[in-house]
Amino acid sequence: MKKTKKTSAYYPEKLLLTAGPSISKREIEYVTDAVKTGWNENFRDYLTRFEESFASYTNTKYAWGTSSGTGALHIALLACDIKKGDEVIVPEITFVATSNAVEFVGAKPVFVDVEPDTWCMDPVSFEKAITPKTKAVIPVHLYGHPANMTEINRIAKKHGLYVIEDACPAAGAEVRGKRVGGLSDIAAFSFQGAKTLVTGEGGMITTNNKKLFDKAVYWGNHAKDHSKIFWHTNVGYMYRMANILGALGLAQLERNDSFVESKKKIFSWYEEILGSVKGIHLNVEKPWAKNIYWMSSVVLDTDIPIKRDKLMSVLKKRNIDTRPFFYPISMFPMYKPQPKTNPNAYWVGTHGINLPSGVCLKKQQVEYIANQVKDIVQKG
Ligand SMILES: *Cc1c(COP(=O)(O)O)cnc(C)c1O
Repeated sequence: MKKTKKTSAYYPEKLLLTAGPSISKREIEYVTDAVKTGWNENFRDYLTRFEESFASYTNTKYAWGTSSGTGALHIALLACDIKKGDEVIVPEITFVATSNAVEFVGAKPVFVDVEPDTWCMDPVSFEKAITPKTKAVIPVHLYGHPANMTEINRIAKKHGLYVIEDACPAAGAEVRGKRVGGLSDIAAFSFQGAKTLVTGEGGMITTNNKKLFDKAVYWGNHAKDHSKIFWHTNVGYMYRMANILGALGLAQLERNDSFVESKKKIFSWYEEILGSVKGIHLNVEKPWAKNIYWMSSVVLDTDIPIKRDKLMSVLKKRNIDTRPFFYPISMFPMYKPQPKTNPNAYWVGTHGINLPSGVCLKKQQVEYIANQVKDIVQKG
């Protein structure tokens, strides 16, 4: 009997997940050492090394580890003195934390549209939304593609606004050869377990501005006044990162370039099969940008024969996990219903899915997924 070719017969034994880190001997070694030695006078040795390496990686002067990306965004806003009565412009498509952090400080998030191809803040829509109350803008480097920082910074400068990067999912992404995190007044990163560089939960702020840095750390560390022990001058917050997580983060950072390579390769495997399929759009990379492809994704045209949620459920039956894009934030009940003035956001937010994108995915797995997507999209 003749054997058929093995490759086409691949079927995943377990659900292929959308994310998942790479953990090597290095992570285990650093974390184990931190557990053993990271106490008393050594209580933040690994954390300090992680912060210093991360500052150097992002070409910034200052970095401070936080317990989450959300916490990092919160203290970035506090450092910029954003408060009640102020407006902060955020893209309508982002993780809800971007907008929630604005609410935490009592300010009003104003949602603007995204570009149809990068899915990041549209600078034209941003400029139109500026009012006398606008104090800051938060561009988001969504799914690993950087926002158009050149334009956003130019407009913000013209209107005297703070620029806070939500770089949460994008460590290593670049604009005109410069890494994100150092392209604004202050930036926030996340190392939550589904990101590319992980500490389980965790985050970082980066900045070149000493005043903003000191204020952010002050707010994130109980509003401590360093002139006296246990003296506090405000109701502060507690967003410090643990040293053990710093050890994990340091090991991950030392390997981050290889993760970015893997993500790019995974995307290229998807692109080979899905790039020419009619009715779907994949991630892009603008000529001025380096995309780290945190999430390989597809956005469906409105007129293809299958609905987004149906596609996701059929894929699930074939052992492929997917995630819907972030919903347009103005759809959420806690945000005042706003008129649907951001058409691109409403299109990508209801027609996009993230495909499995974990750094350890193999070519055979990606080809299987891409072929299933192609098959379903074409047959309906
Ligand atoms: C992950 C993420 C966050 C929040 O990070 P946490 O560490 O979970 O608080 C914020 N914004 C964006 C765009 C993200 O992708």
